[in-house]
Amino acid sequence: MAHVELENLVKEFDDVTAVDGISLDIPDESFTVLVGPSGCGKTTTLRLIAGLERASDGEIRIGDEVVNDRRAYERDIAMVFQNYALYPHKTVEENMRFGLEQHGVEDETITERVNEAATLLQIGDLRDRKPAELSGGQQQRVALGRAIVRDPAVFLMDEPLSNLDAKLRVQMRAELNKLHEELSTTTVYVTHDQVEAMTLADQIAVMDDGQIQQVGEPTHVYSNPLNTFVAGFLGSPSMNFLEGVLERTGSGKLQLDLGSDTHSVPDEYDDAALADYLGERVTLGIRPENIALNQDGVPANVHPATVQVVEPQGEKTVLELELDSGESIKAAVNPDTEVTIGDDVNLRFDRDSLHYFDPQTGE
Ligand code: ADP
Ligand code: MG
Repeated sequence: MAHVELENLVKEFDDVTAVDGISLDIPDESFTVLVGPSGCGKTTTLRLIAGLERASDGEIRIGDEVVNDRRAYERDIAMVFQNYALYPHKTVEENMRFGLEQHGVEDETITERVNEAATLLQIGDLRDRKPAELSGGQQQRVALGRAIVRDPAVFLMDEPLSNLDAKLRVQMRAELNKLHEELSTTTVYVTHDQVEAMTLADQIAVMDDGQIQQVGEPTHVYSNPLNTFVAGFLGSPSMNFLEGVLERTGSGKLQLDLGSDTHSVPDEYDDAALADYLGERVTLGIRPENIALNQDGVPANVHPATVQVVEPQGEKTVLELELDSGESIKAAVNPDTEVTIGDDVNLRFDRDSLHYFDPQTGE
């Protein structure tokens, strides 16, 4: 087991800076997920840790040792790839044994470890099959098995579930969780899928454009996004952003003039940082699940809107609405909510779940 530290890591390919100064502490036994849109540098970061790419600058430490100059096979890591990368002519058993044989591990130990991993992953009866005779899910298990038998200090996984169908992906997610509980091996896991990231990670690092935007415990990052990128990336449907001019009313309260209506800022958000924007534009962020329909009674801070789209999704119904300002906004409501296209409703924003950003910097 080992912790991993990245310090000001940079990787340049010709004219592309794929990794642009990443610093990240990956604690021992953690399941750390790098998540971000395609092209943001996740795979390159993982390959740098693996030793499959050389860093242009910065330092990589595994345990307490700087490994920049160590070859991949000298790094005590095992990598699981999106496409499984199994040897097509070898059987499941041979695929699992191969890495250990290359490392000169004793035959008896190899057999023991392969048996253990096969039991853990429930692939015991597939041992004599070739990869082509396996389903995608089974191939993925073998790829995991091959990593597990190595008993490395760190697992590196690059979108290992993205070639599986939706149902299997959810099942494998749960199994990866279980596997990590059992083995506690430090894991760095890469995905573009924010739901996968939220469910698997105990530490999440949200990346964009070669940089880490925010690191933390998933629910903390979700509830306290540092900028509009993180706020918009995590969550589905994604956070709504409404822009308005910040002003102070006669009674001394902060409010946002949203055009056709106003949003009064709850007192608990009225701090020096926000007040600094008086007279300027401010972005209000509100997640769809934090918007309620409020048809009767008119408490403070309701926003009239017209229902445009009703999309039942099972555990919730997603509404697309048009505010009087003409802006569109999404709300996720209880599936029992009686609502039809064309309804005029009042929206109420949950005052505990508001976010305010600077529209220029997004922070
Ligand atoms: P992700 O895994 O997040 O989708 P990558 O790490 O694969 O992102 O890529 C990050 C950026 O680096 C992209 O712009 C990609 O085109 C570029 N890149 C990755 N590998 C290479 C390479 N070997 N040569 C040139 N550019 C590369
Ligand atoms: Mg990738």
